[in-house]
Amino acid sequence: MGNDRFAVGVDFGGTKIAAGVVNLETGQLVGTARKKTRTQQEQDDIVKRLIAAIDEALMEAGMEAKHVSGIGVGAPGQVNREKGVLLFGPNVSLTDLPIADPISKHYGVPCRLGNDVEVATLGEQYFGAGRGCSSFVCVFVGTGIGSGIIQDGKQHLGASATAGEIGHIVLVPDGKQCGCGAFGCLEAYASRTAITKAIVAGLNRGQDSMIREKVDLTKGTLRSKAIANAIAAGDTLVTTIVTSAAQSMGAGLATIINFYNPTRIILGGGVIEAIDMYFQIAEQEARRRSLPIAGRRVEIVRAELGDYAGIVGAALLVRSRELASNLP
Ligand SMILES: [Zn+2]
Repeated sequence: MGNDRFAVGVDFGGTKIAAGVVNLETGQLVGTARKKTRTQQEQDDIVKRLIAAIDEALMEAGMEAKHVSGIGVGAPGQVNREKGVLLFGPNVSLTDLPIADPISKHYGVPCRLGNDVEVATLGEQYFGAGRGCSSFVCVFVGTGIGSGIIQDGKQHLGASATAGEIGHIVLVPDGKQCGCGAFGCLEAYASRTAITKAIVAGLNRGQDSMIREKVDLTKGTLRSKAIANAIAAGDTLVTTIVTSAAQSMGAGLATIINFYNPTRIILGGGVIEAIDMYFQIAEQEARRRSLPIAGRRVEIVRAELGDYAGIVGAALLVRSRELASNLP
């Protein structure tokens, strides 16, 4: 029998796979490992890479699979939780990939699969900024924008288990086209992808900016840290664009506040972690735009687990049902 105190969590992302052995009582990591996610990998290859990361994390912790109660995996896309299958992962170019079964068979312990946002929300709920709060919304701002909803201590997943897609609420009817194909989504205005597109457009118009050398123009990518550095150095182009993106985010948050009336909103993800100004403007704008009673009441805070939310939250999948009844 495995040890109930420990579980392995795997954060399977678009660019990296991070695994860790997690103490489920304290949320502490006792061993971690990282692997790159290859693009255009074979379906078999990805499960092998997940297993390699799990092996390494166990080894670092000085444990074997029999020492843990199970393995949880957070995957980027839509998942079938019962069957443990990644149904659709656009960022990793995968469809209908069985993950839980092969991993469970390989190690002889239970394996549970969840969606990355669901899992990061679970991490914040038990060991991060969601502690002591039974109804809150986690919003993660990075390449895209996703959110997890905790209602009376439980995740609200919705009829098709796709609730929380706050990135695709329509902010501007007939506005900019979003990655999802629709027009005017919040994500098309407030994500790092949106910020990067606006910066590239500004540079192409010949606007002066210190960020010019930081943009990968072939891929159209830019790191959150480079954006933060440009703001700190007083770069006008970048500051103007990020201000506008954060204001859009604030409008999105006001929608959450008015509609859902949460006790707390937790903001996380690469953009929030790296760019302080973005958080501050989004908070101000959320309060300014929301209805007064709900807007005054809501706490708006930063996520606490950072990079580790995915690993810790995935490990919690293993015991999430028991935990939901045992923890406050
Ligand atoms: Zn969209």
